Amino acid sequence: MPKRIAILGAGPSGLAQLRAFQSAQAKGEEIPEIVCFEKQSDWGGLWNYTWRTGLDQYGEPVHGSMYRYLWSNGPKEGLEFADYSFEEHFGKQIASYPPRAVLFDYIQGRVEKAGVRDWIRFETAVRWVKKDGDKFLVTVCNLPEDNTYTEEFDHVIVCTGHFSTPNVPHFDGFESFKGRVLHAHDFRDAMEFKDKDILIVGTSYSAEDIGSQCWKYGAQSITVSHRTAAMGYDWPDNWAEVPLLTHVDGNTAYFKDGTSKDVDAVILCTGYKHHFPFLPDDLRLKTANRLAAADLYKGVAYVHEPALFYIGMQDQWFTFNMFDAQAWYVRDVIMGRIALPDAAAMKADVEDRVAREDAGEDDYDAIWYQGDYVKELIDETDYPSFDVEGACQAFKEWKGHKKKGIMTFRDNGYKSVITGTTAPKHHTPWKDALDDSLEVYLQN
Ligand SMILES: Cc1cc2nc3c(=O)[nH]c(=O)nc-3n(C[C@H](O)[C@H](O)[C@H](O)COP(=O)(O)OP(=O)(O)OC[C@H]3O[C@@H](n4cnc5c(N)ncnc54)[C@H](O)[C@@H]3O)c2cc1C
Repeated sequence: MPKRIAILGAGPSGLAQLRAFQSAQAKGEEIPEIVCFEKQSDWGGLWNYTWRTGLDQYGEPVHGSMYRYLWSNGPKEGLEFADYSFEEHFGKQIASYPPRAVLFDYIQGRVEKAGVRDWIRFETAVRWVKKDGDKFLVTVCNLPEDNTYTEEFDHVIVCTGHFSTPNVPHFDGFESFKGRVLHAHDFRDAMEFKDKDILIVGTSYSAEDIGSQCWKYGAQSITVSHRTAAMGYDWPDNWAEVPLLTHVDGNTAYFKDGTSKDVDAVILCTGYKHHFPFLPDDLRLKTANRLAAADLYKGVAYVHEPALFYIGMQDQWFTFNMFDAQAWYVRDVIMGRIALPDAAAMKADVEDRVAREDAGEDDYDAIWYQGDYVKELIDETDYPSFDVEGACQAFKEWKGHKKKGIMTFRDNGYKSVITGTTAPKHHTPWKDALDDSLEVYLQN
């Protein structure tokens, strides 16, 4: 009997895992039986845009946290698949910061070519996973048929992402605030805030990017409140960075330094929680959003139950290519090509990763730390080797370009570490490109 493998989620991480197994199969190897459960009706995870917020048509929490007009927030040269370049997909090199729809198209291209769609059971939500002897019992619900059933697997690979369950702080006065209070998870269309004064709480990527979207689409003013340090970019004139929000009263927001500002809406860009409601305590990853995730040997194997794996649970500089490196590694463990060490050695590996991350001083150390991690995994599998150092350099240039111009950094181009060609300039500067459809973006 071949092993049975359950992959939970068909976002970029789950798709990387499907492609990893399919690539072994394409080389003539016998692979386990693969079943991927995905609660949405299509693949792509966060990149599969939905207008919905709150609960979906089946009463499931909406997974999507992406919004209209979202463009890649880092250069595509940092995430390019080593086995499927942008040039292969689009038939030409494209500019470095594609909008969501363009990246979604690219993600789909590789798995369409691989022919793995049949391995996915769509509109099937994972409800519960439990260990039973040396097997896992995975209980899922076919949502359209409202039918819950359980199947047995030898391994479970959790690929359900960690940017969908919002971390929502409370501030005094929210109950009676006269405008809208929302978390970034529910933000969809910047046009809603045209001519409005908005307050953003937080300094995450979401804060920076949602603020920039609102600025681009005509918000009257953007005020960003920080707990520890301001982001410090050279913002446009109608943008201010202020200390932490203390409370709101009516429409007025008050900050720790005694200043205040009248605002129409508050957008909480206060991060996300790792949330796995389908896992019991003994199987559930409990980690902060960091580069060295807790309890994961080599960043993927759960030290307390090494037949269980997690992909993409780290904080992310690298994304798609890191998920690939992880997926290829997990495949090789499952297929018996890589042996996991004993529990003590796995725990020591985690501690070492945590210590090395903690020793880093700045974002550059973090980029190279994660680059080294990607390299380490790739060296142990047959994932096509690529110039990881070159990808780190692209991230470094990107950070420099952001410092130079936070509203112009997306107008720069970088060199592909897969094909060696340099991205052309996009035909329209990001701030003027209001139509970000795939068709318009790809025009020459
Ligand atoms: C607003 C935002 C902007 C971002 N921008 C970028 C960017 O520009 N560039 C970049 O590289 N990365 C970006 N990211 C990072 C993003 O995390 C990754 O690009 C990528 O989507 C992570 O892939 P994943 O498969 O791990 O998780 P996800 O994309 O979250 O996919 C997880 C999948 O699991 C499914 N799932 C969840 N629970 C269940 C369940 N119980 N049963 C069945 N299926 C389930 C979901 O429906 C989903 O399809 C951004 C993230 C956010 C939130």
